[in-house]
Amino acid sequence: MIKMRTEIIRVNQNHIGSAAEEGLRRGGEILKAGGLVAFPTETVYGLGGDALNPESSRKIYAAKGRPSDNPLIVHICRFQDIRHIVRAVPENVDRIADAFWPGPLTMILQKAERVPYETTGGLDTVAVRFPSHPAARKLIEYGGGFIAAPSANSSGRPSPTVARHVLEDMDGRIEMVVDGGEVGIGLESTIIDMTVTPPKILRPGYVTREMLEHVLGEIDMDVTIMRDDSGQTPKAPGMKYRHYAPAGRLTIVEGEPGQVTAYINERAAKDKAAGEKTGILGTREQIGQYQADVIKCMGNREDEERIARNLFSALRSFDEERVTRIYSESFPTQGLGQAIMNRLLKAAGHRVVRLDEAGERSMEQEQ
Ligand code: AMP
Ligand code: MG
Repeated sequence: MIKMRTEIIRVNQNHIGSAAEEGLRRGGEILKAGGLVAFPTETVYGLGGDALNPESSRKIYAAKGRPSDNPLIVHICRFQDIRHIVRAVPENVDRIADAFWPGPLTMILQKAERVPYETTGGLDTVAVRFPSHPAARKLIEYGGGFIAAPSANSSGRPSPTVARHVLEDMDGRIEMVVDGGEVGIGLESTIIDMTVTPPKILRPGYVTREMLEHVLGEIDMDVTIMRDDSGQTPKAPGMKYRHYAPAGRLTIVEGEPGQVTAYINERAAKDKAAGEKTGILGTREQIGQYQADVIKCMGNREDEERIARNLFSALRSFDEERVTRIYSESFPTQGLGQAIMNRLLKAAGHRVVRLDEAGERSMEQEQ
């Protein structure tokens, strides 16, 4: 891959001044010319390219090292533009858009002919999202209105929640990074497949199952979201790949809080004695009781929004400190907790230890 100079521009999402506006205009020109620009959205940073230009999509796959059967999400900046990239807009799509767009939700629909297979990973469906972040919307508009943008990380690594993470993975590989500070949500969008009846959630996110059911009535959930042993292939092709993973070996420990802390400390001490560098991912309530080389607090247990926002950056910081063995607390899987646990399980390769009431240990789902 040819090394290039990556330009960085800064924007304040609450007030896009004239310098930022000018920078976003230039970013749009880069996109129209087939180049790549990373930008903040309300979920995570995206790596943008012109979705209607097959060459741009090829460049996105190359920059990320992403398998080319893993389709990209097309971002739009006006709801009515959806008509240009899908075959039809069913009535329930209007209802969902009314309720959740612009926002952290992606819909899968039958693709229009003009969307190249390079963008959809060879599928006849296309993933569409209308983000709410003001800088993202301007950049999409200046870039021609249809921007393919997967998360701006190297394939397999945790998604970027600040511009520094993007530069760690993409410096010298793309033309521009728009630095908008820390993102608001920190987990990727919810994906719902609207081509099936009832609609099916393929990836959980900030827009929860409960919220979608409120608008749509009955919906399904892809069985692979929380389980690795279903024997089925995930319906969102990207979800079958190892994902979000830190370099160190991550194990999730589930059980009553006192037992979890004791177990994690015992395991971390053994690992350390064996020459490993140890890390622990915990919540405020338990964090003071841990002993390890690197301890990361994600926030209060009941503050799921903060935990979601901190998760990927905590995972990346273990890499920065070259931690080789990581233990994490587990989270309940209702509401936003489902998205948190889905990412954590993938990061851990579904390595979970469940402690039962007697304190015995059973390893489940270990790969
Ligand atoms: P990312 O943009 O990195 O968050 O990843 C996009 C996710 O959307 C991946 O898991 C893809 O497999 C999924 N996706 C994109 N397009 C489709 C589609 N047409 N059908 C099913 N899943 C899709
Ligand atoms: Mg991704």
